[in-house]
Amino acid sequence: MSGYYNRKMTTDEAKKIDIRELQRRQSLYCGNTGELSWRNSRTKESTGTISYQVKLDCLVFSYRAKRHNSQHWQDYEVIAPLTYTPCNYGNSRVWFKCPRCSKRVAILYVNIQIACRTCQRLNYLSQQQTKGMWQDRDRMNKIREKLNWPLYQDVLFRTKPKNMQYKTFYRLVKEHDFYEMRYLYSFGATIPSLFAKLDNVKKNLKRVATK
Ligand SMILES: [Zn+2]
Repeated sequence: MSGYYNRKMTTDEAKKIDIRELQRRQSLYCGNTGELSWRNSRTKESTGTISYQVKLDCLVFSYRAKRHNSQHWQDYEVIAPLTYTPCNYGNSRVWFKCPRCSKRVAILYVNIQIACRTCQRLNYLSQQQTKGMWQDRDRMNKIREKLNWPLYQDVLFRTKPKNMQYKTFYRLVKEHDFYEMRYLYSFGATIPSLFAKLDNVKKNLKRVATK
């Protein structure tokens, strides 16, 4: 499977796994295995393949993917729990539970992770946000180097290098403050999502402990 990452996901090109389709094809019996694959609608080239295995109360997906900026393929295995709601005539309707947020959904999206639309979108946004954050930090540090200011601690004394003109100095300080503010601001914004991740880890630990 080719790398899924680094492209803005649109509904058209997103790789979808639709539980209703699997049910229509009568693929959802325990022990069944199969493969899902996607093609580029224009070039007809294969864009990815995933194999699945149906268990009693979940689907296990296995696939290989490359992370952003990485040359290495990595094996992934994702468990998507199944859940049922009653419908007419005593039948029941099957749903996925998103592997990340446990929300009941009919469609899961593949993008390195397998998750619901909301989780994929949030994931994408936080990746973009983090990328911008590190760029700001690098720019800030580059200016600090020019100013001979410390890189990984607070700047207590805003000294001007001896041979630098005041005009240049003030310009650099202004730029520095801009990137520093933006960096700190984005960094602060990542804290709630860090807490959310920690919460998830705790929940999973509990689940493992009670098994
Ligand atoms: Zn989700």
